[in-house]
Amino acid sequence: MRITRIESRFEHLALARPYTIASHTVSDVALGFVEIHGEHGAVGRGSAAPDEWVTAETDADCRGALTSDALDWLVGRDVRTLPALARELARTMGSTPAARAAVDGALHDLLGQCLGLPTVELLGRAHASLPTSITIGIMSVEDALTETDEHLGRGFRALKVKLGRSVEEDIERVARIRERVGGAATIRVDPNQGYAVDDLRRFVATTADLDIELIEQPLPADASAAMRGLPPEIRHRLAADESVLGEADAFALAVPPAACGILNVKLMKCGGVWAGRRIADLAEIAGLDLMWGCMDESVVSIAAALHAALASPATRYLDLDGSFDLGRDVADGGFVLEDGCMRTVDAPGLGLSALD
Ligand SMILES: [Mg+2]
Repeated sequence: MRITRIESRFEHLALARPYTIASHTVSDVALGFVEIHGEHGAVGRGSAAPDEWVTAETDADCRGALTSDALDWLVGRDVRTLPALARELARTMGSTPAARAAVDGALHDLLGQCLGLPTVELLGRAHASLPTSITIGIMSVEDALTETDEHLGRGFRALKVKLGRSVEEDIERVARIRERVGGAATIRVDPNQGYAVDDLRRFVATTADLDIELIEQPLPADASAAMRGLPPEIRHRLAADESVLGEADAFALAVPPAACGILNVKLMKCGGVWAGRRIADLAEIAGLDLMWGCMDESVVSIAAALHAALASPATRYLDLDGSFDLGRDVADGGFVLEDGCMRTVDAPGLGLSALD
């Protein structure tokens, strides 16, 4: 199936619920959308959520990479040659991973439509569905407990609690949330690089009886040597996020003795499904678990991440809550959320609606 035309645009979308993490507060997002038209009316859809804090890709960089001129080389190419196209994207869009993820997602959507298969099936499904966590930002204990109740009421059974401003306050907040949920939910935490090694050791020792599932990126992104210096029982529960942008980072962290037990793959960091699957293969070979995370994103790119996540045997955790708090989205479909679990829809490609 030949590619006949490509369109892209950007939208500013407000969040229904602004939130705070260790470094800043987020209240709205600028997202890019790409539509790749094939023969016979098929349209593949992808979305970009650049995060300058994490990947240094600015909104302007992302926009520049998604202009008609920049993507013109794809017109006339056959989407069935996706691996070769993905390799070209890796070479030409290396510094704009979110823009690349939008094009890559649209190609994977279009190829699934072309083959009449959900994208997860053509990638090799390994999981039917998995629970996703939902995030509680940095806020007062009382507000966090109110949000906890809301999330449990909506059916979520995995909470990700943002930490990283004060270890003492963090310990208090997590203890109170555990007290509130009892055994009804798993709790994972994310200090977003906010800890020094001593903070981490203190947090781990003090919360030993709170059944914390994993600790995401407690130390600075460049602290892989310090991670390797931790005892194995702590290291195995660490999920690298800001430390693992792309494949090279994943490889460096996975070299034995692995610096962490879990890699957090985000399409907007690594450049899309194709790159995410290369990290997934690497994790599977190295014996690491995968968590699939996201930025604040449209269902368009969350669907792409979910299809990729459910196609890797190494996938153990989903953290794909990025579209739940958008005040408005430009598409729907792509996945079903039921009792806190996410599954794909039974439709060719990513199963998305047309863009508004
Ligand atoms: Mg994180």
